[in-house]
Amino acid sequence: MPVATLSHVKRVLDEHDMHAKKKFGQNFLIDANVVDKIAKNACDKELLTIEIGPGIGSLSEMLMKYSRAVVCYEIDEDMFSILKEEFNDDIELYLEDFLKVDLDNVSYRNEKINVCSNLPYYVTTPILFKLFESDLMINKITVMVQKEVADRFKAEKGSEDYNALSVIVQYLFDVKLEMNVSKSVFYPMPKVDSAVISFTPKVDRNREFEKVFFELVKNSFKQRRKTLHNNLKEFLSEEEISNLFNKLALKDKIRAQELSLADFLAIYEVLYGR
Ligand code: SAM
Repeated sequence: MPVATLSHVKRVLDEHDMHAKKKFGQNFLIDANVVDKIAKNACDKELLTIEIGPGIGSLSEMLMKYSRAVVCYEIDEDMFSILKEEFNDDIELYLEDFLKVDLDNVSYRNEKINVCSNLPYYVTTPILFKLFESDLMINKITVMVQKEVADRFKAEKGSEDYNALSVIVQYLFDVKLEMNVSKSVFYPMPKVDSAVISFTPKVDRNREFEKVFFELVKNSFKQRRKTLHNNLKEFLSEEEISNLFNKLALKDKIRAQELSLADFLAIYEVLYGR
């Protein structure tokens, strides 16, 4: 029987006299069909998959099926010992807070990897940004997140969810909504629905460019209610701003949330050249 079933998850927790821990964001997947679909789509048979927070192993089991090998990081000692017992040495397992892992010195730093995780909701953004900012050779990141978080990453200009992070992430990755997931496929059942989203790198990394470009984007959104002109005033001269607005024929009162990624790249080009 797959791990991702309500009866198995409950039995394992009961046998170890344990409950899901809220402080670690533990909501276990209990629908084997959904988990199989996620893993199949996230992995490649010839590549290593990294999983953050394996829990009881609902997803890990399926990741193993579709990957060359699986490396997992679990923060919770109790989960770690269950996994050791259930999976023996089939997965490479570390008892570690992923946010503290030194990604510059991991054994897989020079190989192409996939990342797949049902992310703990209380650290979704820091974990994703740790991955985004790393030098890992990422093929694809596939993660389960709360629906509203997925909406923010996917947001297009003009929408309420659109912010600096949407622009930065969409510059670095093709962001795809893989599937919406009902809250009923988790135990215990969370209050909100979730979604699986994937991030596929689409640009060659250029850290120097990114530093300036991301700063420009963040400054443009700094005070959401202010116009772009007023936000830019904090770090550009009036002359630079009026030159920029003239060259790109920008409306005086335009706000950052009305600008697309392409618009921000055009602004960068006017200000700093190619
Ligand atoms: N993968 C399992 C599943 O889908 O059923 C469990 C997912 S549960 C949403 C999140 C898991 O991440 C839990 O096992 C939790 O203990 C673990 N976790 C929480 N914070 C973590 C961190 N900072 N580093 C590594 N694991 C963490």
